[in-house]
Parts: sequence; C-alpha cells; structure tokens
Amino acid sequence: MSRKISLILLGAPGAGKGTQAEIISERYSIPAISTGAIIREAIASGSELGMKVQEYTNRGDLVPDEVVIDIIKERLSRPDCEGGFILDGFPRTVPQAEALDRLGVEITDVISIEVSDEAIMERMSGRRVCKACGSTFHVRYNPSPNGEYCRCGEPLSIRADDRPEVVESRLRVYHEQTEPLKAYYESKGKLKIVLGQEKLEDTTALTTAALEGID
Ligand code: AMP
Repeated sequence: MSRKISLILLGAPGAGKGTQAEIISERYSIPAISTGAIIREAIASGSELGMKVQEYTNRGDLVPDEVVIDIIKERLSRPDCEGGFILDGFPRTVPQAEALDRLGVEITDVISIEVSDEAIMERMSGRRVCKACGSTFHVRYNPSPNGEYCRCGEPLSIRADDRPEVVESRLRVYHEQTEPLKAYYESKGKLKIVLGQEKLEDTTALTTAALEGID
C-alpha cells in the first residue's frame, strides 16, 4: 500500500492496541507511538516527568492532558514520523483530540478495537511485559517463545497497573473519558470498528482489512 498512514488506535486498555500497533508498524515501516510506553520509561528512569505522572498511572487515572499533549507534540516532530505513524493510547480524551487537530496533525484512519470488559479483565491478568525492550506477551494468547523470559532474554514482568483493582478503574476511565472519541471521529467520517478476536492474528487480519478498505 503506498498511501501515507497516520493511524489512531482506539480501544480499552488491554484490547490489544499495543500488539496490533507493533505488527502494523513493522508491516508498513512506520513508528508505533505509545504514550503509555513513553510514560512508563519516564517513571522507570526517575526523571522529573516520571515523578510527576507516577501517582496518576498507579491509580489507573489519566495523566493531565497538557502533560501528554507536550509528550506527543515532541514525539511527532521527529523525522521518523514524516512518512506516517501509529498512535497507541493517544488521544484518550476529547481535549487531547482537539489539541491534535490544533497542532495541524493530519489523521488518515481511526480504528477502534472493541473487546468486552469481561474479556479485558481476563486478558489483563495474563499480560506480561518486558521492561528492557517493551515487548508485550500474554501467557495464553501470545506467549513468549522463551516462557517467562522475553525474546531479548530479559525476564518478563506484570505491569503495576495490570492489577485487577487498577484494571477496573482504568476501564471506568476508558468508558467515561475515551469512548466519547468514537463519536468525535465518527462525525469526521474516520472511524472504523474492529471486533477484537480471541486470536491476535484474527484481529490483525480484520485491522489490516479495515486499513486497506476491504469490508
Ligand atoms: P497504556 O499503556 O496506554 O495503557 O497507558 C498506561 C497509563 O499511562 C495510563 O493508564 C495513563 O495513566 C497514562 N497514559 C497513557 N496515555 C495517556 C493519555 N493519552 N492521556 C492520559 N494518560 C495517559
């Protein structure tokens, strides 16, 4: 496909946005930008930004709009975004989407990956992440070929915000603050819905079909 893709992936935490973003990134050679990953790196490094946002993420709350808008503004200004990009986890609120519009960032596609809350709760309990390289796995649906270790050799861990009580709070935040973005992008004629499947390759096939305009 030769057209430029600047894609927003919407969906609840745990819907599979990160995994699909990695696959699409490789397939179309465009960067996958995850504000969550940038925030986790900042927290791990103990930077000023990290210390400022840690209390929000630990509770499962969103980080203030102005903080993530600054992060995304800086990231999108880098040269690797010139040929397109995938946004995973941004925007998460209507004011963030409006800020993106004000920055003059052109979005070609918005895909919402839909998964029920019950399935999300089940998925999050099996999610494992690599703190070294950022890869994500699931003990049942997307296991690492190295078991409890990542492909890169580092041990896998459970994200602090994947604990059940935090997941419940993140789902509540998603329904209240992020889901309204579907109507926002629907009204611009950009929204496509993909029903998240149990097998990630089936979700990838549907996501790719949505991107390439195959119904
Ligand atoms: P994620 O990995 O996308 O689920 O993000 C992890 C956490 O980072 C979220 O629970 C929020 O606390 C924070 N975060 C990531 N992206 C955003 C955003 N666009 N707006 C506000 N907070 C965010």
